[in-house]
Amino acid sequence: TTRVIEALALNHRPRRLPVALDRASYDVVIGAGLIERAGALLAPVLPQKRVVVVTDATVAELWLPPLLESLGDSGFHVRTVVVPPGEKSKSLEEFGRVTDAILEQGVERRTTIIALGGGIVGDLAGFVAASTLRGLPFVQIPTTLLSQVDSSVGGKTGINTRWGKNLIGAFHQPAAVLADISTLATLPAREIRAGYAEIIKAGLIGDERFFAWCEMHGATVLSQEPEPLAEAVERACAFKAAVVTKDEFERSSEGGRALLNLGHTFGHALEAELGYDGRLLHGEAVSIGLRLAFLLSVRLGYCPQADLDRLTRHLESTGMPAWISDTGEAFAADTLLRHMTRDKKMHDGKLTFILVRGIGRAFTCRDVPEAAVRAVLIEEGC
Ligand code: NAD
Ligand code: MG
Repeated sequence: TTRVIEALALNHRPRRLPVALDRASYDVVIGAGLIERAGALLAPVLPQKRVVVVTDATVAELWLPPLLESLGDSGFHVRTVVVPPGEKSKSLEEFGRVTDAILEQGVERRTTIIALGGGIVGDLAGFVAASTLRGLPFVQIPTTLLSQVDSSVGGKTGINTRWGKNLIGAFHQPAAVLADISTLATLPAREIRAGYAEIIKAGLIGDERFFAWCEMHGATVLSQEPEPLAEAVERACAFKAAVVTKDEFERSSEGGRALLNLGHTFGHALEAELGYDGRLLHGEAVSIGLRLAFLLSVRLGYCPQADLDRLTRHLESTGMPAWISDTGEAFAADTLLRHMTRDKKMHDGKLTFILVRGIGRAFTCRDVPEAAVRAVLIEEGC
């Protein structure tokens, strides 16, 4: 795979996806071999050739050297801060360590923070950029499929607290996103599948044709053939960028960013129950959650059974987790329901869910009976 991607990098033209927001606009650049060209790509969009690269130890070993070389070649003054890999780094403690390191090294108001890594590094470094000196320029170089199609677009940054995930944070838009698909060559297959869940989610929410494209090309995306991989990243990013552009601050309670939570209410409950310990990746939980959201929509009479069957077939044929039993863990309906009701206000035993009227037709439903959700969980063997 690496050889194929390297060969492709030579003649692959990066795709540029403009994200136009009210007060800021930037490009998401998608392609192979972008890290080697990062210096040239970033020089025109950054206010100053001073940057601090924040990355995790795993990514530092793999992808920091070519980035440093490229930035150095373009005359950048670069410092680096390395954090441990894993969700634990999205903490107040690590936030403190990173800001201390940056302030100690000397930071100017126009110094850019570059996040090199997955969503964890992106969220942490983004929040560091949003808050240090009340806001520093920020660049994302996402190195996981999930961060390329999801977390690097949209401007949400933040850290976790013991009260829950992402409870402290800020909206802080990047000056540029470089989604270098070459970096995915070193990513474990399991992480690729996790990112793929968020890709098909885009089709399931609002683009039936994109889901049909995934049915045709999903297997080659998962085996990392460069062309379909770049196309999938581009289409999923474009979808998210369009949603985010219309609802930058998640103010719309109907359509808008809320729809991006399709599959996430079930998914979060599974994740929360296992305690984010690596047994179930976020994308794996979302993959199952997507099927459960369709199942619930069918049981409530909103969605044809055929669309649920189509989704189940696609998940199963690509080796994606589809059923709660695919986790290999046992869950009780009651505890899962408690996770779902905890972060949501229940009104008269009714819950708010993102449901579907079919593939590509997601909507917000405010009166889902708790009993219907319980019935779905019991049907799944909980
Ligand atoms: P991650 O950042 O932990 O990366 C997964 C693992 O892969 C890590 O161990 C990392 O070291 C390793 N890795 C990263 N790139 C690699 C590469 N190219 N080769 C080999 N290994 C590599 O996890 P993630 O799935 O990218 O992100 C998850 C985080 O993203 C969560 O904290 C979630 O809350 C957040 N998120 C944020 C948003 C948002 O809008 N801001 C959206 C979705 C998810
Ligand atoms: Mg998600």
